[in-house]
Amino acid sequence: MRGAVIHAPGDVRFETLDDPKILKPTDAIIRTAVTCVCGSDLWPWRGLDAVDEPRPMGHEYVGFVEEVGRDVTGLRPGQFVVGSFATSDNSCPHCVNGFQSNCLHREFMSTCQAEYVRIPNAAGTLVTSDGVPDERFWPGLLANSDVMGTGWYAADAAEVRPGSTAVVVGDGAVGLCAVIAAKEMGAERIIAMSRHANRQKLALDFGATDIVTERGEEGVARIKELTGGIGADSVLECVGTAESMRQALHSTRPGGNVGFVGVPHDVAIDGQELFFSHVGLRGGPAPVRRYLPDLVERVLTGRIDPGKVFDLTLPLEQVADGYRAMNERRAVKALLKP
Ligand SMILES: [Zn+2]
Repeated sequence: MRGAVIHAPGDVRFETLDDPKILKPTDAIIRTAVTCVCGSDLWPWRGLDAVDEPRPMGHEYVGFVEEVGRDVTGLRPGQFVVGSFATSDNSCPHCVNGFQSNCLHREFMSTCQAEYVRIPNAAGTLVTSDGVPDERFWPGLLANSDVMGTGWYAADAAEVRPGSTAVVVGDGAVGLCAVIAAKEMGAERIIAMSRHANRQKLALDFGATDIVTERGEEGVARIKELTGGIGADSVLECVGTAESMRQALHSTRPGGNVGFVGVPHDVAIDGQELFFSHVGLRGGPAPVRRYLPDLVERVLTGRIDPGKVFDLTLPLEQVADGYRAMNERRAVKALLKP
């Protein structure tokens, strides 16, 4: 089969690779229906995460079950499935508590920009649909695999409630999906922090009520202005830089909550400042599996359309162009078709 391999920053190649095989009896192999490039794939692409040796890329997927290991129950070849970027048995204590992305048997997906993919913990990870969904739903279902599930967790972790005010820091695919989540959870006011016209438009389409273009302390001042000097009930931090985290913490009212889902890079939080702020913090890799059945339903009924974050579609063999387009912000998110 063929798939994407990163050799060095800025150097992703589409290469012939060994076909994935069942390595454990709990594995399945899927044939990729669609996959994509994630904003977090840009960290190694930009050299901000080390690339010590060539390695496959990609952690988002929907596909068709091709083969299952002998211990995999409830799945059979031909089924259409979606799963999270973090695999889980969906039965250990952490899974039962709803934190499947911290499963005791967790394995992170990392080979999905390819024609075939091995899925560990297949029975607990993969969610099936009745029959094969119409192809127009595939982008939305693919978004559920990571960015929509992660945006949902940001809103959940920040405790968005009906009638509340939510601020979304970050206008990448996760931030845009976080706007959808805040809307679905009933936030009355959703303030998207974005400087890019096309992303502002998408945020407004998804339910944002206000756009703030300022950043840093100016951005915080603007949020305070929009919230009667108080700050927001919930702030959804979807970037992962020191600046975005500071912006999130300072935009939250005392007693409010920050949900942070951007993978932190050089983020440090001052204990005294946090203590006196009365702000609650919860983050981490999203337990997407917890939300998947519900999100699949919302997509297939047309209630939400997170697939709109894909503004570039490429054949899988042009995966490198997807990285370039996203790196240069010519695209929010690139969909790849085998
Ligand atoms: Zn588990």
